[in-house]
Amino acid sequence: MAAATERSRYILGVDLGGTKIMCGALSEDGTRHLAMRSIPTQSEQGESVTMDRMVDLIEDVIGETCRQAGATRDDILGIGIGAPGPLDRERGIVVVAPNLGWRDYPLRDLIHKRTGLTATLDNDANCATVGEWWQGAARGGRHVVGVTIGTGIGGGVIIDGALFHGASDVAGEIGHTTIELNGRYCKCGNYGCLEAYASGPAIAIRAREALVREESASLMPSMVGGRLEDITAETVYDAAAQGDAVAHEIVRDTARYLGAGIANILNFLNVDTIVIAGGVTAAGEALFAPLRAEVRRRAFKPAVAAARIVAAELPGTAGVVGAVATFKTQVLGAV
Ligand SMILES: [Zn+2]
Repeated sequence: MAAATERSRYILGVDLGGTKIMCGALSEDGTRHLAMRSIPTQSEQGESVTMDRMVDLIEDVIGETCRQAGATRDDILGIGIGAPGPLDRERGIVVVAPNLGWRDYPLRDLIHKRTGLTATLDNDANCATVGEWWQGAARGGRHVVGVTIGTGIGGGVIIDGALFHGASDVAGEIGHTTIELNGRYCKCGNYGCLEAYASGPAIAIRAREALVREESASLMPSMVGGRLEDITAETVYDAAAQGDAVAHEIVRDTARYLGAGIANILNFLNVDTIVIAGGVTAAGEALFAPLRAEVRRRAFKPAVAAARIVAAELPGTAGVVGAVATFKTQVLGAV
């Protein structure tokens, strides 16, 4: 029996996104990462196809984990799933996921039925925040907010070392807090949300608008063969890194919007760590210097002094690592 209790056990994490599904396994203590891999979501083919693909990926990761670790299926404790919200964690349901085309989808129970393994569900941005807190840039923080900038802007809140979900799992939606009363339209239906200014697509839109005004002064049109509609946030970061003045201005404005959003967080929650994830962090100090300056201008001094604002350290895997951590919290009682 002693040998059996010494066996390592493993937990799978799934990060379900609009464009790709990432999955991997961690040893129960989190020290080993195995079989990390991703596939395109192909959500346009419908929810049952996405579900089939996800189950295939999970079985693939289980098989590879067993091979690499000399484990058996009995050593797999379960699956933590991070999915776009809003969610109903209690019932394991994805309430609405526009990027997947899902509505009231019982994701947790379907995964359990198809794999026979215990499954848990939490918001993808919550998972990314917990991942960075457990093993990444927010390690050691007690009060942490994670801001994930991609197609949208997601957020996660950790208070006293535990995820804060709020009364109906909506807590942390920093992307949909208002920073301009009569501002740009946001796909949530509101106007002036942070996401409508600082998400990847919003950065690209602001760049195109600036170029219509001053095209000749920028490298960006030539980087996309003159097709301004092909400009993405990455084009902006690349051009800024090459010293392009227009791109630099877009990055600086992005930093100011994010800085205002983060100052709101600091004055409201007085957290000790803000961890920022997403492609925009590749801009480095071109982003972080004006962002910190904006935060200093807007937030209370003691709140600014107590907070470190850092770039994420687990690009790509934070969601999987955090999904495993939320499984541990929900099923085993602690990370
Ligand atoms: Zn919004």
